[in-house]
Amino acid sequence: MKIYYLFLLSVVIFFGSCQPRVGFLNTEEIIVNPDYDLENRDDLVAHCRSALSYIPDPELPNATPKKRVRVNFHIMNSSRKNENFSEAEGVKYAQDLLYNVNKNYGKNDKLLIPKDNNIPNLKVPISFILTPETDDPSDTGVYFHYDDELYAYIHRGKNRNNYKRDVVEKYTGHYEDILPIFIMPHHPDSIASNTYRANLTGISLGKALKISGLFEQGKESWEARGLLSHELGHALGLSHTYNQSDGCDDTPKNPNCWTVGKKAPCDTEASNNMMDYNTYQSALSPCQIGRMYYNLSKVKGRQRNFVQRNWCKLDVKKSVVVSSDKSWLGARDLEGHLTILSGATLTISCRVSMPKDAFITIEPGAKLVLFDGARIHNDCGDQWQGIRIVSQGKLKGELITTGSYSIENVSGHDDILPQS
Ligand SMILES: [Zn+2]
Repeated sequence: MKIYYLFLLSVVIFFGSCQPRVGFLNTEEIIVNPDYDLENRDDLVAHCRSALSYIPDPELPNATPKKRVRVNFHIMNSSRKNENFSEAEGVKYAQDLLYNVNKNYGKNDKLLIPKDNNIPNLKVPISFILTPETDDPSDTGVYFHYDDELYAYIHRGKNRNNYKRDVVEKYTGHYEDILPIFIMPHHPDSIASNTYRANLTGISLGKALKISGLFEQGKESWEARGLLSHELGHALGLSHTYNQSDGCDDTPKNPNCWTVGKKAPCDTEASNNMMDYNTYQSALSPCQIGRMYYNLSKVKGRQRNFVQRNWCKLDVKKSVVVSSDKSWLGARDLEGHLTILSGATLTISCRVSMPKDAFITIEPGAKLVLFDGARIHNDCGDQWQGIRIVSQGKLKGELITTGSYSIENVSGHDDILPQS
């Protein structure tokens, strides 16, 4: 009988020792190693501000969750009410237009140039959401203003007003968290001139967009998707690519052909980039995506105010599981938990926001390396649960720091403020 119990006890101890043990990190467990050997050490330095650090990783889509940019529409008209879409047709037009813009960003065609390139057409983790200014259920987020002084858009001549902000200030001045899109008709006096072209055109003023020609051209809403996609690209920080350096190596300058043609140079150099002027405007390069995502990730950035703050509330379906070595050189706003699986190393060298109540789990044999400049926090004024270290037998998850880092907003713990 005694032997039986002894056997049972040893079975419990044996299997007990193989069960993983999970505990929240205590600060003595942090391995501080300023000389920690990282193969890509040089690549990690000062890349928080590089667009390339924000290119989505197709293996970890939840590491760059979709950012939804709030927009609304202001349809300008004269008191005659015949210069732009009526209230009956304007709401649907605006909704359809935005739907087609989201489709355009969502599809992201392969880049036509450079010819025969193998640049991936990545999924764009950005979309636009029509957002009313009030909670009133009848508020569609599409507004109509009748203003004989400010309704028109003039992009040529001495009365040029496209760059002016007066109409924006009058109708949206106090909203900072929704990007307003003004649909304005060309001025009838301009249209009457032989030299003025009332074509599809627009301008980004940073905190607002103006687009024009949509009503006058009489085209379907989807035909203006390129124009609005382009202006939204400007609003999120992109420049033209055809005639200037836009800071991206994967967007070559080009002759700005309207379409692919039969003759040189448009046979091989026609662009379909959203930020050139062409009939397609349907493709974004990885660097361009990275640049927009960077601007939406900057904590004090202007564009970030427009983003729905989906990173505040924990959504376990958005959890990130790291199963191979990864380096996060850019900031991340995670929406779920973060787990590093055995055998994998995640290196963080920028800001990572964890949603309320989320935790990071470092499995046995996995490593989390906080490189110089790493900051883990909650961006919403809440607290997250902290870092869980899992041990099994002799193997243990490891948190290694090399350089200055901080761990902030962990429930029940003091912040570990920048230290090296
Ligand atoms: Zn432009």
